[in-house]
Amino acid sequence: MYPVMLDVGNRRCLVVGGGGVALRKVEGLLADGAKVSLVSPEPIDPLRVLAGDGRISLEERPYLPGEAAAYSLVFATTDDRRVNREVFEDAERAGVWVNVADDPELCTFHLPARMRRGAFQLAVASAGEAPFVTRRMRKLLERRFGPEWAEWTAAASAFRRVVRAAELSRTRQEKAYDAFFDATVDAERLTARVPGDEEMASWLGGDEPASRVRPREDEPFVRAPGLVSLVGAGPGDPGLLTCKGRSRLFEADTVVYDHLATTALPCDLPAKVELRSVGKQAGHHPVPQEEIIALLVRLARRGKRVVRLKGGDPFVFGRGGEEAEALAAAGVPFEVVPGVTAGIAAAAYAGIPVTYRKQVVRATLVTAHESIKEGGAQVRWDLLAADAHATLVGYMGVTSLPQVVDKLLSAGMDPRIPAALVERGTTSAQRVVTGTLAELPRTAERAGIKPPAIFVIGPAVARARALDWFGRLTLQGERLVITAPGGKIETLLANEGAELVVLPLPVTEAARVVMGALPLTGCIFRSPDEAEALADELDGPGWGPAVVAWCLNAEAAEKARRLGFTKVEQATPGATEQDLAAMIRVVRGRQRHYQKPDMV
Ligand code: SAH
Repeated sequence: MYPVMLDVGNRRCLVVGGGGVALRKVEGLLADGAKVSLVSPEPIDPLRVLAGDGRISLEERPYLPGEAAAYSLVFATTDDRRVNREVFEDAERAGVWVNVADDPELCTFHLPARMRRGAFQLAVASAGEAPFVTRRMRKLLERRFGPEWAEWTAAASAFRRVVRAAELSRTRQEKAYDAFFDATVDAERLTARVPGDEEMASWLGGDEPASRVRPREDEPFVRAPGLVSLVGAGPGDPGLLTCKGRSRLFEADTVVYDHLATTALPCDLPAKVELRSVGKQAGHHPVPQEEIIALLVRLARRGKRVVRLKGGDPFVFGRGGEEAEALAAAGVPFEVVPGVTAGIAAAAYAGIPVTYRKQVVRATLVTAHESIKEGGAQVRWDLLAADAHATLVGYMGVTSLPQVVDKLLSAGMDPRIPAALVERGTTSAQRVVTGTLAELPRTAERAGIKPPAIFVIGPAVARARALDWFGRLTLQGERLVITAPGGKIETLLANEGAELVVLPLPVTEAARVVMGALPLTGCIFRSPDEAEALADELDGPGWGPAVVAWCLNAEAAEKARRLGFTKVEQATPGATEQDLAAMIRVVRGRQRHYQKPDMV
């Protein structure tokens, strides 16, 4: 097998077959700019949608003899080996490269598994012998190579242009490239950093004036400031992202996001919006604050529209103030799109109104974290303890809760005052514990409450017993994947409190981030094709053995089992989508033990 990278841009490619496999081939080809024709008597809906949008040309009919000859690349994906063989033979005869899915004998080329970071790509192949290994290898590479490699490659490309324009001797050219590589790549950790302009100019060699560093318009070195929008993603429930926030995300070139913000990322965010995580994630350490700021400035200076997406509200304990200040100092235009802050929203989802007429006339947002550090600004717990008509909402307070409670009690606060902790408020993973102020640290420990959680202290907390609307919903706690268009079943399930991850097909990068943001509990399959379309996603984060495949019919259930689902629930023959939703409600409702918050 001889490796090549093909430029399929504007070349005619044929896909025969109209199921999930065909869809995945189409996605790959479209992403690289190919002109795709698809032939299938019964294509699945997402393919019809792509055709309706004018992205592929679709003929709903069987394959015609000889057809393959008119294309540059041909893929056969039908489940009829006779048709696949016919396509293969036609292509072979015409000297056209052809690939038949899952049939190495009928392939004149294989597709490697690939990892892509901008223009930088790694392809892994096993000559069709062990595709399961290459897929896993790709996942491994995906984890090792962070998103910074895309930007690094763009910088390398710009640097190369500059070096060439400088007309250096061959030796000096190579020296410049060595300097770039050695200074920017950490070979041990496989990380890369993007060098600054002056640094790059210095590698050109002593006597080269930096003014010769003049690359193309859309590339690094250009100073046409874009815009950085500091956007609040809200507390987690995707419905609590603001309209303005959503539209900024859709207009963005790059979204730089924290881990807290991920459940609210719109799954239908177009692939052209680059996503960069700077939060803590499996295998990756959080990016230090200075580097985040440097990244924002760099992107904006390159003329990009950047969204800095933060959990809750950017100016409430989110270091948004610091980032805005740094942007202002760097002369980068910015704006702030406020978000729904966790302290108010998580309390509301736990049934706690943070103010209440005639009884609670003040609400204080406080960070519990800073206050236990030596030096620096301190929270006056003694003053807060003295106000009986207030709600105290504490952020970042899980570990320091015992100290905070001690301080409040020793300042004379009533130990019987009601208090609550809300973990991952507004999401499918929301948990609420309540008790008296004095008991709260022990209650929290027993329940194993972990960050992110807020504590709420004050008389308003007692209202949760009557107002706990969210925790009471039958499907609260469910996080279900459904492929778009979700339709009626989506509304039925959401109304019962389920969090829905509505996956567009082709599956977008944003959707992958959202799937992995919290554990999934189930997925809805209305047809075998819907299940097949997710085949590549099932070992991603968020998925696990506990995920139930809720299937509308026997064919979908059969497919789900073959994909490795161990928990498969199938609706009765002839069931409608409403029936399936009802089944989920009954089965889950039975398994759920709703506990009223115990209240003093
Ligand atoms: N800017 C954010 C707060 C960031 S500080 C906002 O306005 O909400 C991080 C802290 O926020 C966490 O330690 C936790 O106390 C709180 N937090 C964020 N999201 C939360 C959620 N969904 N439920 C409970 N607390 C949350």
